[in-house]
Amino acid sequence: MKKTDRELGMLRQISRRDFIHGTSLAALGLLLPMGCRPSGSNVSASSVNYPPTRTGMRGSHPGSFETAHALAREGVRFENPVDLVEEYDVVVVGAGISGLTAAYQYRKKYGPESRILLLDNHDDFGGHAKRNEFHQGGDMRLSWGGTMNLEYLSFTDTVLEFLAELGIDLQQLNKDLDFHYGGDGPAIWFDADTYGSDVLVPGFSMYSRNLDALEKIDQFPIGESGRVALKQFYSSDANVLEGMSEREIEHVLRHTSYTEFLSRYAGLPVEAVEMFVKATDGYWGVQPHSLSTTEAMNAWLPGSHLLGDAADRAAGLEESEIVAMFPDGNASIARLLVQSLIPAVAPGTHAENIATARFDYSQLDRPGRSIRLRLESTAVHVVNEDHQVAVTYVKEGMNTRVRARHCVLACYHAMIPHLCPEIPEAQKEAQRYQVKHPMLVTNVLLRSGEAFDKLGITGAYCPGRMHAKVWLIKGVNTAGYQQGRDVEGPVPVMFWGMVAPPRHDVPIHDQLREARQILLEMKFEDFEREVRTVLDGMLRPTGFDAAEDILAISVNRWPHGYAYGYLDLWDPEWEAGQAPHEIARQPVGNIVIANSDAAASAYTQSAIEEAFRAIDELS
Ligand SMILES: Cc1cc2nc3c(=O)[nH]c(=O)nc-3n(C[C@H](O)[C@H](O)[C@H](O)COP(=O)(O)OP(=O)(O)OC[C@H]3O[C@@H](n4cnc5c(N)ncnc54)[C@H](O)[C@@H]3O)c2cc1C
Repeated sequence: MKKTDRELGMLRQISRRDFIHGTSLAALGLLLPMGCRPSGSNVSASSVNYPPTRTGMRGSHPGSFETAHALAREGVRFENPVDLVEEYDVVVVGAGISGLTAAYQYRKKYGPESRILLLDNHDDFGGHAKRNEFHQGGDMRLSWGGTMNLEYLSFTDTVLEFLAELGIDLQQLNKDLDFHYGGDGPAIWFDADTYGSDVLVPGFSMYSRNLDALEKIDQFPIGESGRVALKQFYSSDANVLEGMSEREIEHVLRHTSYTEFLSRYAGLPVEAVEMFVKATDGYWGVQPHSLSTTEAMNAWLPGSHLLGDAADRAAGLEESEIVAMFPDGNASIARLLVQSLIPAVAPGTHAENIATARFDYSQLDRPGRSIRLRLESTAVHVVNEDHQVAVTYVKEGMNTRVRARHCVLACYHAMIPHLCPEIPEAQKEAQRYQVKHPMLVTNVLLRSGEAFDKLGITGAYCPGRMHAKVWLIKGVNTAGYQQGRDVEGPVPVMFWGMVAPPRHDVPIHDQLREARQILLEMKFEDFEREVRTVLDGMLRPTGFDAAEDILAISVNRWPHGYAYGYLDLWDPEWEAGQAPHEIARQPVGNIVIANSDAAASAYTQSAIEEAFRAIDELS
């Protein structure tokens, strides 16, 4: 029977159980009166001054986007700014990995005395490189709220040398990693709301051929014809594109949506196809109806075994990447960059202990320092003026203007036309083309991983739910942090997914915008109810109690997630130099443009490379 909100533990103040390094908040005199808690969020008192420990709504958290939306959506003008007396050589808008790298490279190019101001609209630096830090009974548990994988085999020398300069040993990180996204204990969980009853099928991965586990399909709560077809799909050795040339195969795979491939070529009935439609949400914010077969298969969705020998080459299927990973994802890179720019934030910190270092945020923006990082500051107007750039930003409701010799825009490209009216219309049009993919990463701290252990799983694919994937975060033992498989006590579980676009028969940019709007309108309670429902349905048979065993929840909502990287079914082949991102990133006077959007590529390495390019363009 469906549980009430009370039974799920919705009405509890879970934050009351948060502790800092084993010291209770009350002992530190930090407890806030109840009325002071931000509504709809489990913000604990410990987190007030330490952004990584804030729980509740993170990612694009309340307070981070309203100014930008007023500018971009409502056309509000932020007039009569107060001029700052501070003087800078460069203002960097956006303190994600690209902006931080740009600041780092600027100092390298123009010398250690360079005066640099970084502005970011969030309450923490790093952009998508977001650290989620939980404290419970003296233990710190880390998870990543955004970017995590370093797929380093494809990194250019520029990126490899840069990361080495930060002291990062990618091979060592890879060796220290024993985390497999649930691949070492897979399961599929059918939920009662969608499938009529809660059914967990351990030992079955949607992604591999499951030749040894085909009988598990008998447990799937779908019709007999769907089960038979799925068994046939996974076990078949037939080449469904037999007789086609490589060129024809490539054409079919790039111009056929994955759902169409499954029904037309793999012979799956609708209810079996439906089981795959949530699988790509976490990566694209759109479903495989809107992705080519090649794109879906490159995201590990099954079916390539039906394509014959030439298929990998013809379809451009990529090898699975080897990854390196920090315990807080690429937030460690952002932290290393900030520490290099402003050493006083964490003296004595380096790549080997970065994961456990506590940063002193009061050092980020100190008067008299040559490099300052100003959070909760949204740039609203950027304009070239006689050999200078004037940047207006809003912080705490104040319109402030600062001038510098240069400006680097390392923010979302779709924002730039609103910031810089002087940009030529064709360039603005190209910037508007960059509609980022909305994404969602929700981290839940559990009292222990016991329920997962009892079920013999490390993760599950949930085809009926908002977050289609759930992983237990264990096996990340790097950079001074140990979260081995045998560690007992609290453990984070990461939920990865997205709300479905309401329509998939409209242009891709509309799908992304519509899904984004839904994401933006959702409240913390909506996400909380969702993860509690899933954990209750999946783990309850082990004695798990959602009301008691959930200790904290951080929802990392990214309405502007991955950079849009052109999709087979929706984009033409652009001529060299004519792709929107190439037009969008052209310098304008003393303003240069970075961000991974500038590469139309949602990767950390792209964010770094684009920062290098932007700084190179400055004279
Ligand atoms: C959930 C998720 C998972 C990901 N996983 C991976 C992964 O595993 N591996 C990988 O390589 N990549 C991953 N990525 C891609 C990620 O986008 C890049 O790796 C990289 O972090 C992007 O950095 P960036 O600096 O270009 O942009 P961002 O991180 O977006 O930083 C830009 C910053 O500028 C700020 N900003 C925007 N407008 C303004 C303004 N007007 N004023 C002030 N500040 C502004 C933004 O809010 C943001 O903080 C992931 C992304 C997401 C969302």
